Amino acid sequence: MVVEPKVKGFICTTAHPKGCEESVKRQIEYTKKKGTVEGPKKVLVIGSSTGYGLASRIAVTYGYGADTIGVAFERESNGKRTATAGWYNTMAFEKFAKEDGYYAKSFNGDGFSKQMKEEVIACIKEDFGQVDMIVYSMAAPRRTMEDGTTVTSVLKTVGEPFTNKTIDLRNNEIKEVTVPEANEEEIRATIQVMGGEDWKEWIRAMHDAGVIKEGAVTLAYSYIGPVVTHAIYKDGSIGQAKNHLYDTSVELTKEFADIGLKAYISVNKALVTQSSAAIPIVPLYISLLYKVMKEAGLHEGCIEQMDRLFRDKITGEVETDEEGRIRLDDYEMKDEIQKKISEIWDSVDSESIQELGDIKGYWDEFYNMFGFGYDNVDYTENVEI
Ligand code: NAD
Repeated sequence: MVVEPKVKGFICTTAHPKGCEESVKRQIEYTKKKGTVEGPKKVLVIGSSTGYGLASRIAVTYGYGADTIGVAFERESNGKRTATAGWYNTMAFEKFAKEDGYYAKSFNGDGFSKQMKEEVIACIKEDFGQVDMIVYSMAAPRRTMEDGTTVTSVLKTVGEPFTNKTIDLRNNEIKEVTVPEANEEEIRATIQVMGGEDWKEWIRAMHDAGVIKEGAVTLAYSYIGPVVTHAIYKDGSIGQAKNHLYDTSVELTKEFADIGLKAYISVNKALVTQSSAAIPIVPLYISLLYKVMKEAGLHEGCIEQMDRLFRDKITGEVETDEEGRIRLDDYEMKDEIQKKISEIWDSVDSESIQELGDIKGYWDEFYNMFGFGYDNVDYTENVEI
């Protein structure tokens, strides 16, 4: 069928198979051009189908020459409705990786479940023996616990409600939004979904099964950001989960010292992904950030960030801040970048956003995520979904 974008608020409910393939291809080409460096050779990526996880998988495959196993939770097409972008991305990645001589196997299902962990561990035993890197890049709205109950994460503040500017993604209008505060139960649930508990369950199950190589590295991703987003991010319910994720990294390194495992948090840049589009205030910040970083020649997307992470930050001596975190938000947090954004933040409104922000850049990346907007893809053509 002819596939067109159907955008509803911050989500696109269709995805283009050829466009997703193009998106994966371009990310592969970026890393391929940079050549390979010495690094892990057997890598598990949990949350491997979109955003930072997909870019991680591409960066380790083409930057380290690694074989990969990926885990993601995506929807296949039912013949009438397209599959999700992550499903097409995964198909495309496997195709390219195999053509280039790499092992690439993907599991589609609930990464929180014990069953998925068992299946992946069995596959590692069979095909790899052991892995030397585990990337945990899952971003989920909810988690089904082992007893069958479901907990849902929230994007709310902690303490008191917070009012600030946001962009209404339906019409690009700047307006005020009040983000309510989360209650105790919501904070607990957000930590259960987006904190480090499941990461630890993966590592523990893998350690006990003997599938982690001595001296392996495990990574999970976090965000800090500037003061304008602190109430909703760093100090909000998601920030509590990210604190838990950080604490988990410290615990993992201690708990699995017997195999010399090193666990790190990488603090990444704010980027357009399916997860970040859902956070109030953050999309407006991202559109200003893109404008300022592009003007400064410092803009990076997922693949540029992940390529820099695996190529420069964790091979050899691991580069961290005093708290042991890898800082890939170093360009984003530069004083001159943040100073410019806070100057713009106060004055930006619905009229000036087109000029002061990079609305086009935001939307281009948004459409690209679902395989739309590539000039070399014919969107009038019938495609197999
Ligand atoms: P994303 O939505 O693009 O990717 C999420 C991935 O998780 C997908 O592969 C999805 O299939 C998978 N997933 C979701 N639920 C799952 C489940 N139940 N079982 C298995 N897989 C599941 O998100 P992203 O923005 O790339 O986020 C990845 C990580 O990076 C998160 O920890 C996020 O907080 C962090 N991060 C994001 C940003 C940003 O601006 N986007 C910045 C810094 C850090």
